[in-house]
Amino acid sequence: MTGVEHYYQDIWSKAKTIIREDSSIDKIVYDAYFDESNLVYLNDDKAVITVPSFVQKTVLSQKTNLIKDILEGLGYLVSVEILLNDEYGDKLPEKEVVHNDQVRVEYTFDNFIVGPSNKEAHSAALACAYTPGKFYSPLFVHGNSGLGKTHLLNAIGNYIKKHHPEMKVLYTSGSEFVTAVVDSITSKTEPIESFKKRMFSLDVLLIDDIQFIAGKEKSHEIFFHIFNELVNNKKQIVLTSDRDPSEIKGLEERLISRFSSGLTVGLDSPEFETALAILKSRLNMQTLDGLGTVDDDVLSYIATNFAKDVRKLEGALNRLLFYAVQFGNGGRIDFKLAMGAFKGAGAVAEKNEVSVNKIKRIVSDYFGLTRQQLISNSRTKNIASARHIAMYLSRKLLDLPFIKIGEEFGKRDHSTVMNACEKVEINLKKDIHYKNMLNELEKQILQT
Ligand code: ADP
Ligand code: MG
Repeated sequence: MTGVEHYYQDIWSKAKTIIREDSSIDKIVYDAYFDESNLVYLNDDKAVITVPSFVQKTVLSQKTNLIKDILEGLGYLVSVEILLNDEYGDKLPEKEVVHNDQVRVEYTFDNFIVGPSNKEAHSAALACAYTPGKFYSPLFVHGNSGLGKTHLLNAIGNYIKKHHPEMKVLYTSGSEFVTAVVDSITSKTEPIESFKKRMFSLDVLLIDDIQFIAGKEKSHEIFFHIFNELVNNKKQIVLTSDRDPSEIKGLEERLISRFSSGLTVGLDSPEFETALAILKSRLNMQTLDGLGTVDDDVLSYIATNFAKDVRKLEGALNRLLFYAVQFGNGGRIDFKLAMGAFKGAGAVAEKNEVSVNKIKRIVSDYFGLTRQQLISNSRTKNIASARHIAMYLSRKLLDLPFIKIGEEFGKRDHSTVMNACEKVEINLKKDIHYKNMLNELEKQILQT
């Protein structure tokens, strides 16, 4: 029996026990119709149960609501289909399993500005995308935060999805990988064998911020296995990290050597020309409703003073536009207006520096809480929710390690922080008001 089958059997035997104990089902009925049933397929939205005979199928088909309730009680919110043993197999080929590649559509090669600082990384990324698996595998891209690693990684994913639609791509992150492994081992989700099998079936594996698997031994082992399998089968792996493989502390030697076995390329801070081109392209993408054009000297000023990384550049541009909407007259955005936005130039970049304390202050004020409440153990919904948001923003805006964020918010462990960030991300995806609220908070943090 495979791991997946064991897993199904486990769930179904729990379900059967509940059915047997259900007062609406006589023992004689259970023995005749349910006893021989099997769970043969389960995904996010569907469960398939098979039985040997037509009569059993007819009876169980009238009880799908009961089965559905029971599965839901066990944590699987799915629709239920009853099939004959013979019918299953033809009916649900592998490809019915929806594969969620997680690639972010907004990051493409088209909107990535190339300059000397990122030329090498860009051309290596494009080569992987153009001939997946035939170029270096793994490609390892490293560079400080905000220099375009996530952008390039997703650009590869989008390019391959467009030009090789038959290929199976997955974009994930080091921390997501660790979570998946841990959940799998503690049998919260699928068995580890089935997780590995899913990974083995990929053509392209893109892992962002791989440094987060440092110090996670079990994840090392499983990753090592997946890595070898994919590379041996000439599949494409691309990894990113904030530093060179040899500098990632807490990473096993064998992984360091694997990571460095393909091609390693670095990203640097954008030079003036590149910074300027990025700003211009950003301006072209925005609808400057109610705003005039931005003077060239203003753009030069930003490109000179905020080009440590691209995120800072974007932040400065957003700050400028935000300020112009508030205080401008709808006409040209000139140097004088810009100086208002960046009062004291470099010094402002300093003053504006985002810190955890600032995030705590702004988030707790926003929700009418004290800072003490924010880091307390309270599980009251609004307090917990504000805390999750503050953790998420500390991660997003400061790129702090989960461990550090945990320490900042009442000595919580890193997995609590990871879960909090995940919750926020889920809400962001499904709730536009939540998203607007978060944008507003982010703006306040970056621009005050
Ligand atoms: P990292 O993953 O290295 O921290 P990101 O890929 O998230 O950085 O980049 C930060 C922001 O800067 C993103 O909005 C990204 O689209 C943008 N960006 C980075 N490099 C470029 C570039 N060369 N051209 C256009 N946008 C860029
Ligand atoms: Mg990134």
